Amino acid sequence: MGAQTTDPRPIPRLSVAGLRAQNTGGPVHSSLARLIASGLADSRADLVKATGLARSTVARHLDTMIDAGVVTEGGTVARPGRGRPPLRLALNPRAGVVAVADVGAHSARLALADLSQNLVAQEEVALDVAQGPEATLDVLTERLRGMLAESAASGGADRPSALVVGLPGPVDARAGTPVRPPIMPGWDGFPVGRTLTERFGCRTFVDNDVNLMALGEARALPEGEAPLLFIKIGTGIGGGLISASGELHRGAEGAAGDIGHLRVPGADDTVCSCGNIGCVEAVASAAAMAARLGREDAGLAGQDGPR
Ligand SMILES: [Zn+2]
Repeated sequence: MGAQTTDPRPIPRLSVAGLRAQNTGGPVHSSLARLIASGLADSRADLVKATGLARSTVARHLDTMIDAGVVTEGGTVARPGRGRPPLRLALNPRAGVVAVADVGAHSARLALADLSQNLVAQEEVALDVAQGPEATLDVLTERLRGMLAESAASGGADRPSALVVGLPGPVDARAGTPVRPPIMPGWDGFPVGRTLTERFGCRTFVDNDVNLMALGEARALPEGEAPLLFIKIGTGIGGGLISASGELHRGAEGAAGDIGHLRVPGADDTVCSCGNIGCVEAVASAAAMAARLGREDAGLAGQDGPR
């Protein structure tokens, strides 16, 4: 979505109950990093207040992140009132880069971002996902390596800390594999995540492209905007669901937001590319609407006299 906001801070949302339930490692680190990155918390006291976690718990996780070079603590934060001003927390932008590939049917948008969420580089490459995973991943690998080499030449990282790949079809995000993607012949079950992890030596997150868009949109909206349903209308129709706590809701089979093939009442004469009739996608996708307009135009042209 192209909505521009003058406030660049992504607003994080935390499910404190969820945090307490899984009070270890990754999820807590991720939540603390989001709070710091957003500017909503720039001291240990702020983190304690925002998460509801015990001071000692915040300290333990924060120390791990500082030791890893991801968070820096230094200088002081101006606060009204008496008492010693707290030390300022910040993400270390130079702690690494995240590489992103948003793969479409005929092209991919590639980007490198530093850990302060600034885009370091971006470009678009032509490809054809119908040629299969090997050919497509070779194109992505070559271009991303080129971008990383350029980044390294100007003092940036030559290796990503993480790689994120959005694919135009259903994905088993845990396995990092596409699941019977309709427009991607040869991709079903292909180990996209594992292949790229071997090539780039970092964790690779693979997900449906609309899920990633929904997550990005949720991070850029004010806190009260969740839960959120993000819908992308293009060649097909896809959706992503974000829960009230700001997490991606996948559902039991990983297709919770996948609304394109739900049946619309009153469209029993419309056959979908999936073989069923009356799917949302068969009625309301850009292609379906263009086709219907074309038919209506033809109908008008066939009538006698001016209207
Ligand atoms: Zn369908």
